[in-house]
Amino acid sequence: MTYKAILFDLDETLYPIGNPSIKKITDRMNEYIVKTVNVPDLEVKSFRESLFKKYGTTGKGLVSEYGINLQDFLRYVHAVDLSLDMEPDPEVRRMLDRIRLPKYVFTNADRFHATRVLKQVNLLDCFDGIIDVLDVQPYCKPEQEAFEKALFMIGMDSGDEVIFLDDNPLNVDQARELGMFAIQVGSRKQAENAAAHLNQVADFQTLEIYNQILR
Ligand SMILES: [Mg+2]
Repeated sequence: MTYKAILFDLDETLYPIGNPSIKKITDRMNEYIVKTVNVPDLEVKSFRESLFKKYGTTGKGLVSEYGINLQDFLRYVHAVDLSLDMEPDPEVRRMLDRIRLPKYVFTNADRFHATRVLKQVNLLDCFDGIIDVLDVQPYCKPEQEAFEKALFMIGMDSGDEVIFLDDNPLNVDQARELGMFAIQVGSRKQAENAAAHLNQVADFQTLEIYNQILR
């Protein structure tokens, strides 16, 4: 197979899973929900989790069921100081720099957050573009339509020629279904159909497929 493009998830894929910023962002989601949807403090966690499970992202659930403004929500929740929790990993940058394929970030967050994170971990100039959740509206990963929109945006007719890396097992399985070479990065719950599993994104260099896509 000749691969023509590679898609990377952002959060907990391009930097390690369990980064403290994720907890801070989740806390801000809870805050937003309490203020906007009037859910009591004690119930907000299970409320948020049920939206996430049903819709794929909390934001999509809030848009669908409560008509909130997605951009508004995304701006609010991502307003955390990333410099406290994230730092560049030169090994990740080296791994990306050696890949000759066009590289894109494909995220369920917005471009504003993606850009801030990529700057913070010194990877912004490694990528040819960012596909964010607003680009694939009203869908989001793991919905098939979100993947199809992303493929269209990068000029691909099908998933067969695309490599995909993500920590979320649902996203990995969906990508696999669309024919992509789908790799799961450092997740706690394993994707059933992943082509490969990695502890961390820099380990991509250890896979045979990596040697096929070098400059
Ligand atoms: Mg992720």
